[in-house]
Amino acid sequence: MSVDVVRVRYRAGLVGEARRVVHLALWHEGFRTLCGREIRCREAEILGVAAGMPCMACARVLALRSRLGGTRGLAREGAAE
Ligand SMILES: [Zn+2]
Repeated sequence: MSVDVVRVRYRAGLVGEARRVVHLALWHEGFRTLCGREIRCREAEILGVAAGMPCMACARVLALRSRLGGTRGLAREGAAE
């Protein structure tokens, strides 16, 4: 079973610009990022294209999972970091 991964960051004005990195996230009643954050819908800006500074922790988790052959269990593994 494939899982959709979306690019998401905090909306402008909610956090400082340094914290507005673009996370990779799975949808589950909000966004759970691969690096273990929970971002609520009202806090989220969803990006359709690659833009902004990427979250390196999310990129690392995605690369590790891709090497292992899938996105299943991404959120659980990302939370451990
Ligand atoms: Zn992240």
